[in-house]
Amino acid sequence: MGSYFRSHVVGTETKVSLANGKHVLSINFDNAATTPPLYSVLKAILCFAPWYASVHRGKGHKSIFTSELYEQGREIVRRFVNADNDDVIIFTKSTTEAINILAYALASGDKEQVVLSTDMEHLANDMPWRDKFTIDYIALTKAGGLSLTDLETKLKRYEGKVRLVAVTGASNVTGYINPVHKIARLSHKYGARIFVDGAQWVPHASVDMKPALSVEHIDYLAFSAHKMYAPFGAGVLIGPKDTFAKAAPAYQGGGAVGLVSQQAVTWDDPPAKYEAGTPNMMGVLAMTTAIETLGRLDIADIHHYERELIDYAIDALKSVPGITLYSIQDGSEERVSLLSFSMEGLHHSQVAEILAQEAGIAVRNGLFCAHPYVEKLLGLSDDTIKYYQTHDDTSIPGLVRISFGMYNTFQEIDVFHRLLLRVAKHQT
Ligand code: PLP
Repeated sequence: MGSYFRSHVVGTETKVSLANGKHVLSINFDNAATTPPLYSVLKAILCFAPWYASVHRGKGHKSIFTSELYEQGREIVRRFVNADNDDVIIFTKSTTEAINILAYALASGDKEQVVLSTDMEHLANDMPWRDKFTIDYIALTKAGGLSLTDLETKLKRYEGKVRLVAVTGASNVTGYINPVHKIARLSHKYGARIFVDGAQWVPHASVDMKPALSVEHIDYLAFSAHKMYAPFGAGVLIGPKDTFAKAAPAYQGGGAVGLVSQQAVTWDDPPAKYEAGTPNMMGVLAMTTAIETLGRLDIADIHHYERELIDYAIDALKSVPGITLYSIQDGSEERVSLLSFSMEGLHHSQVAEILAQEAGIAVRNGLFCAHPYVEKLLGLSDDTIKYYQTHDDTSIPGLVRISFGMYNTFQEIDVFHRLLLRVAKHQT
């Protein structure tokens, strides 16, 4: 399965030089940051390039063709996540931009309105809510999952005021997949809508915004193309039309409007109202091509294979002395293919450097733009956090993260495992 998936991905045969001068195949265990492109994506871009023209800005053949392709892209996205026919599909440049747009659209100026975020969010699904809403955070269970009990307590506490429950589909630190449909059911019971940050979830698991049980539907969803093998600066925000019909958009300018005078503006209907400026056609084409390829490969099969990879890596890491894993509950938890760990006696940046220099393995280290979550996992005190906020000290604590794509292999994990065993031996 792995080699079949691998044959679709660019760059799997790239060699890098090691500290000892040897050249080896690079190993990319940093797919949660950005994935390499698919061959199908590059081919689509090349085939389309002779027809490329501005979207919705001309009567020329190429402009009309480009505009049609752009609009068809919305339907490809809609089908992929089973969004409602009435949902608006807005193209953005990333998940971060999508969430900022949503925060702007939902904000009413009433800071009494509440957004319930969680203790396990990427900053993208935390910071945009802070200055526009009263924000509270759903706590974690002892095992590290999201506490549905705490969610219900908070939904009751703020009943009538909760504008949104904003939760990640899958954590970029631990890989845990949240029970978003259960969260949706609870949120809807108390009259709140739910937003799911799909950046780490959509590329790795089957997503259904509109399951059979209608109270479990996902109201809003966002994700990024560069985490799903389409690195051309596109993302998407999906949600009900009423949200986007009312407010003025965050970005304003040509393409978002009907007729403008110096005194008054008439807005175009969403999604155009939320896509001011010339649309990123190449990005949208890349994203929708990747979506179609992932659909053909079967996202459920990808999820299954990646689960085997991560379970294999967890077993391997458990045998390395001095390693602490931050990504395991009882082993049966739903997860995507990433995990974080620390290694006794070595700073996270040293571990990342050793992996790169000794075996050409790329990982991510630090706080992964999920600072509060990692701070909690590491048990950092307020004083420690304050110290690092106010001192220029690069020894700031953090973790090492490995994250797999569908093209990674068990053999690559073996290389990684053997090196860590060697490093651990030197440490003792
Ligand atoms: N949400 C999660 C869970 C992420 O992991 C990331 C990126 O790592 C983002 C949001 C932000 O994505 P982007 O940088 O594409 O806006």
